[in-house]
Amino acid sequence: MYGLMMNSPLLISDLLRYASVYHHDTELVTRSLEGPIHRYTYADAHLRSKKLSQALQRLGIGQGDRVATVAWNTYRHFELYFGISGMGAICHTINPRLFTEQLTYIVNHAEDRLIFLDPTFVPLLEAVADRLPTVEAFVVMTDRQHMPETALTNALCYEDLIGAEDGDYQWPELEEATASSLCYTSGTTGNPKGVLYSHRSTVLHSYGVCMVDTLAISARDSFLPVVPMFHANAWGVPYAAALCGCKLVMPGARLDGAGVYEMLHDEQVTQTAGVPTVWLMLLDYMRKEGKTLPALEKVIIGGSAAPRSMIEAFQNDHGIEVLHAWGMTETSPLGSVGSLKRKHDALPQKQKVDLQLKQGRGLAAVQMRIIDEDGKVLPHDGKAFGELQVKGPWVVREYYKQEGGEILDEEGWFSTGDVSTLDPDGFMQITDRSKDVIKSGGEWISSIDLENEVVAHPKVAEAAVIGLPHPKWTERPLLVVVAAEGEKATKEELLGFLRGRVAKWWLPDDVAFVDELPHTATGKISKLTLRTQFADYQLPEGAAPASPKES
Ligand code: ADP
Repeated sequence: MYGLMMNSPLLISDLLRYASVYHHDTELVTRSLEGPIHRYTYADAHLRSKKLSQALQRLGIGQGDRVATVAWNTYRHFELYFGISGMGAICHTINPRLFTEQLTYIVNHAEDRLIFLDPTFVPLLEAVADRLPTVEAFVVMTDRQHMPETALTNALCYEDLIGAEDGDYQWPELEEATASSLCYTSGTTGNPKGVLYSHRSTVLHSYGVCMVDTLAISARDSFLPVVPMFHANAWGVPYAAALCGCKLVMPGARLDGAGVYEMLHDEQVTQTAGVPTVWLMLLDYMRKEGKTLPALEKVIIGGSAAPRSMIEAFQNDHGIEVLHAWGMTETSPLGSVGSLKRKHDALPQKQKVDLQLKQGRGLAAVQMRIIDEDGKVLPHDGKAFGELQVKGPWVVREYYKQEGGEILDEEGWFSTGDVSTLDPDGFMQITDRSKDVIKSGGEWISSIDLENEVVAHPKVAEAAVIGLPHPKWTERPLLVVVAAEGEKATKEELLGFLRGRVAKWWLPDDVAFVDELPHTATGKISKLTLRTQFADYQLPEGAAPASPKES
């Protein structure tokens, strides 16, 4: 027997429709690529998104067609999120930081029919355009006055395109399982794989994002996603913003400390979200310039582990609460968020930060479990660690075009490739990506823990730990460090700093200093590249402890 409630489908277009009615005058603010700060309201965004759907129809785009974006966080990108999905086409966000081979592969694999791009990315697309046979036109996201000279054949102007429409349009009532957007994982091994979201998964995820124990976004907030809209849908913030009608602030192409600070400050931003690298730049800028952000209540850190020093700098030096979150493209992306419970109020400060270092509690809709190498389910005791598996309505079921074949196990769980612990309250803590785990003398060393400790050293800007082969212990850790600007650290200094902070047998066998670390297109340190770079590196003899278990 079915329930007798309305079967209204969960649709992305309804999120913006709602915002345009009840938050019609709430602002969306963009640092435009043309230069000036651009402001308009949800009512304006709604009208223009509908015009965009009309223009897409005029260009012959139909339901299920893939329409790509290569763009920064701007109001036009926001309109594409709603205008493309709203009419039943698929908004394919492309990461412009990908290697051109990957970019070409992705566009061809998705068979994108149109590419919307910021003027900044015209040269990027010009270089590969002749290898993109499915692309019928390139729409440059600017007005006629700022249209760049381009060798792209069939280059259209965004403002001309939507300027020709009247907005008298109704978004169709699609089935909620209809595909809405597509995002490829950066594919550290093999080709990138497409995660194809649906209207249903996106709307449910948006509700999950807004919940008080998640990000607690409300109509009273001013939210600045630094996380790019080309990376896992900017963690779902654009959709969640429309769902609750908060002010949305988009930083355009300026993601440096001063640029982000200015937007956070001038737009009275209350919440912001991004990866640790961005926060390092912001904190550095604020420290050097003696700046504060009195309106900012909360910084959401995810994508890579948030180090203790970063959490403490925000909370102790600036009075800004940190929320540590975990997720992946395959989980829409939010899987867990580290909001504390009432019982944690009484904890001493240090222990509270210990909890915040964890990647947070799994969201209600995202079940989590950990398994050992034989597939045995491990206890949630905060100690046992194994591969993290997840399940839920906004978790991937299979990749686009079935790449990689069956990806769920027999019980329907998705393996994340992260190794973690789970405690009885549901707090999950990642120790490593499974391929980055360092196996030493039959025990595991967490590269993330070591990195987090060492970046607290004032002379360290960035650090990575990788495992190198060792004749006796299988692997031993090598610490690779980028020194802070104008600083010179020594191996002894850094190992001395780590002594007492980590188990003795975890101490890296050696420290290598480099000018910069390799990063992936999503801003994470590329351990794969680093391992290749250091493949022939010789660890000094006798550095490893007599017994790895001796601590
Ligand atoms: P990509 O895999 O394309 O680089 P994703 O955003 O999908 O981009 O990456 C997901 C992975 O990022 C997770 O599986 C995890 O390894 C890592 N990650 C995300 N958030 C955190 C976090 N808070 N702490 C540690 N690692 C994280």
